[in-house]
Amino acid sequence: MANREFYDCIIIGGGPGGLSAAIYALRASMRTVLIERAVTGGQVTLSDEVENYPALGSLNGADLAQKFLQHAQDYNLEIVSQEVFELEPGLENHTVRMGDGETLKAHSVIIATGGSPRKLMVPGEDELYGKGVSYCAVCDGFFFRNKNVVVVGGGDSAAEESLYLAKLARKVHLIHRRDKLRASMILQQRLFADPKIEVLWNTTVNEILSEGNGVAAVTLGDTQNGATRRFETEGVFVFIGFDPNNQIVPAGVKLNTDGYVCTDDKCETAIPGIFAIGDLREKYARQIVVSAGDGCTAALAAAHHVEMRRAAQES
Ligand code: NAP
Repeated sequence: MANREFYDCIIIGGGPGGLSAAIYALRASMRTVLIERAVTGGQVTLSDEVENYPALGSLNGADLAQKFLQHAQDYNLEIVSQEVFELEPGLENHTVRMGDGETLKAHSVIIATGGSPRKLMVPGEDELYGKGVSYCAVCDGFFFRNKNVVVVGGGDSAAEESLYLAKLARKVHLIHRRDKLRASMILQQRLFADPKIEVLWNTTVNEILSEGNGVAAVTLGDTQNGATRRFETEGVFVFIGFDPNNQIVPAGVKLNTDGYVCTDDKCETAIPGIFAIGDLREKYARQIVVSAGDGCTAALAAAHHVEMRRAAQES
């Protein structure tokens, strides 16, 4: 705990964005600490396979996360395992309050808290979470070998996870509320070519029904004629996007209508010295490589900010 209180840069969140920021911050000789409430690596650790991180080909998400961590540790990154519950901006420096009561201060703070899976908000979802309802195919797919499952969503996550589940399950029904997927073309092609996957178009899941201790069926709604029907299934995997983890973003930082942080091209928020990166930041593409790029941008800009602060203090 000794001499922890003042830093050049505090990074909150240990996913690809936060760890990339740490690498660049440490290479810029900033006194840096990264605070992570759970395991480092972020959402990517839940991916079975990552195929689009340039120059690395195809690799397991947890392995990619480990590479990010190892790279940051090569520069002796200090990591604190705590939850941050408040970030208080200041004129000279910013204050971060953690769950253990400790307070850290820094000239610059990079928020890299990512997002959390969005819920369907239908009856049965909360009660059956862990009993057939899941938000992670890699974590729970194993329990559904040779069973029938439904996947809800129409984006890259739903497509990727359907393909993963099709390797284990007997049949995967992808349930999408529109007549078109928003997943990338390459994933759509693979999806349509997989004989174990069937798409139910213009369909919503209105309720998740149980029998005994687990999921037995879902009630499906037809968005075109309003009809509903019971559909037997043993597992419900929900991939309908995620919500930004913006709870500690201080007042004065602009958020868009979906809760993502608006920044300038340096990833700096409306408060000087406070940066937002990765999936928390408003942007066109939420990709691992973009989060890593954000980390680089924010750390370089933070280093410049710290230099300016120091120069101002010395003059
Ligand atoms: P997403 O792209 O936002 O897609 C969410 C999907 O869920 C959409 O198809 C949406 O339908 C549907 N949806 C949203 N709310 C719903 C609700 N209440 N009920 C039913 N359906 C609902 O989310 P994502 O797939 O999690 O991807 C998030 C970001 O990560 C994207 O930028 C994506 O490209 C990226 N990602 C990339 C990869 C990869 O490149 N390998 C893998 C995973 C994720 P509508 O289409 O009708 O809006």
